[in-house]
Amino acid sequence: MLDSLQHKGRRKKMLAQISQKHEFHAGVIEAMFKIPRHMFVDYGLDHLAYLDKPLPIGARQTISQPYTVAMQTHLLHQKVGKFEKVLEIGTGCGYQTAVLAQMGFRVFSIERQRSLYMQAQKNLARLEYHSPLLYYGDGFAGLPKFAPFKGILITCGAPDIPQGLLLQLEVGGRMVVPVGECTQKMVVIDRVSDNAFERSEHGDYKFVPMLQGTE
Ligand code: SAH
Repeated sequence: MLDSLQHKGRRKKMLAQISQKHEFHAGVIEAMFKIPRHMFVDYGLDHLAYLDKPLPIGARQTISQPYTVAMQTHLLHQKVGKFEKVLEIGTGCGYQTAVLAQMGFRVFSIERQRSLYMQAQKNLARLEYHSPLLYYGDGFAGLPKFAPFKGILITCGAPDIPQGLLLQLEVGGRMVVPVGECTQKMVVIDRVSDNAFERSEHGDYKFVPMLQGTE
């Protein structure tokens, strides 16, 4: 499937709509303009890909709403620059992963469902995004081998701040994590020193849950 002029037009319109709701950093909107979201969802959902809505991606999971992707990327970008390491938990179909790679971050991403991990690999390879490193595993464990990370982005609803992951955050780095059972607060944690963290909240969202183990 191609990224046609029509797709580009619809993508531009959708990005203009979400930009009216919040003043996102221009770099975030530019990166999202580069990524053909319709190529991350089932062919049959093509006509819905440029609505500001989550969509099913199989395995009872969803691709995040574009507004949410913009917000998480925007919050991360306030602390993380080009070529810095970012750990994403919840690769899903790989859409947010591609946006992070397009921002110029060095992306590591973990997915706990094998079918999605494989789907994301295919989606990213097809678009020639070879730089993000994808891992199949339980994101609660993070990737100690590659820690510390300047940014940690969690794209599923965590019951609480995952303490083990906080330790994989660099001093000066930022974690963006939706926290809560049914609905989630978008929580930002900045590691200001070895032992000190600052917390702020950025609105209410609804994510699929962050689950233990793999399947
Ligand atoms: N970033 C994706 C969002 C996918 S939904 C996008 O761009 O659309 C969230 C994903 O988190 C799901 O695929 C789910 O399987 C995954 N997930 C949930 N708990 C996890 C965990 N502990 N470790 C890794 N991935 C997890």
